[in-house]
Amino acid sequence: MGVPTLGCDCAVCTSQDPRDRRLRPSVLLRWPDSSLSERLAVSERLAVIDTGPDFREQALRQGLTRLDAVFYTHAHADHIMGLDDLRPLSFTVFREGGPIPLYASAETAEAIERIYDYTFSPQATYPTRARVKLMPLAERTPVHGVEFIRVPLLHGEMEIAGFRIGRAAYLTDVSAIPEPSFALLEGLDHLVLSALRHKPHPNHATVEQAVSWARRIGARHTWLTHIAHELGHEQTNRSLPETIRLAYDGLELPLDLGPLNPSAGPNA
Ligand SMILES: [Zn+2]
Ligand SMILES: [Zn+2]
Repeated sequence: MGVPTLGCDCAVCTSQDPRDRRLRPSVLLRWPDSSLSERLAVSERLAVIDTGPDFREQALRQGLTRLDAVFYTHAHADHIMGLDDLRPLSFTVFREGGPIPLYASAETAEAIERIYDYTFSPQATYPTRARVKLMPLAERTPVHGVEFIRVPLLHGEMEIAGFRIGRAAYLTDVSAIPEPSFALLEGLDHLVLSALRHKPHPNHATVEQAVSWARRIGARHTWLTHIAHELGHEQTNRSLPETIRLAYDGLELPLDLGPLNPSAGPNA
C-alpha cells in the first residue's frame, strides 16, 4: 500500500525518518556494455523488475531516460500499474530499433493484456501507446550479456517469479519458496526478500519466516523489502541478525551480475 499508508497516522506513517517512506517495490539493474553504439552516447544497459504505481516517481529519482528490458514478477496492481509510464522511455528505445521487451509468465501477460487493452489489443489504435512487446518468461533470459534466471515462488495460491541475476536475487511477494528453488539461490552476495510485517498474512511472509529462509539461503547480505507500516526502520533493524537489514527506497548495491559477454567489459 506504500508508507505512509493512506488514512493512517501510526508512528511509522508519521515518522520523520526518510527510510520509513516507502514507494511500491521495484528494482533497477544497470551494467556496462561497451558495445552500445556511440550514436546513443550511453554505455549502460538498464532493466527494471516490476513497474508499480510509483514507477514514474522512482524513474525521475534515478534519472532514468531509457530502458532495455522489464521483467514482471506477477500482475498485482502494486507491481504493474506503472506500465503506462513506460511510454516516453519506449519512444526513445523505439527509435533505437524496437519496442521494450516485457518478460512475463503466460498468466501475468494475460492480465497485463487485459488491463492495458488499449496498448496490446490487435485493434489498438491509440497513437502514443507504449512501444512495448510482451515476451514469454523463460527459465533463463539473456539481456545484453546478463542472464535473468527465473526463480519460481508461491504468493498465496499463485505461482509467481523471482529472479536471480549473477550473485544477486530479488524475491518479492513470497509466501513460500518451493524446495527446488533453493538450489537456484546458492552462493549469493545479495538477496532481496520480501517480509510484510510480524502478523501472519496468507500471501506474504512475516519477518520471522523471511529471516529463517535468509538463514537457510545464507547470502552474505539479505535485504527485506515490500515492508508494511507495522515495521519501523530503525526499530526493526535493531532486532535483526547482523547480515539481514530492511531495504529502503533509493538503496544502491554493487552487484556481481555474473558472466557477461566478453565485449561487455568488466563486471560491475
Ligand atoms: Zn502481490
Ligand atoms: Zn506486492
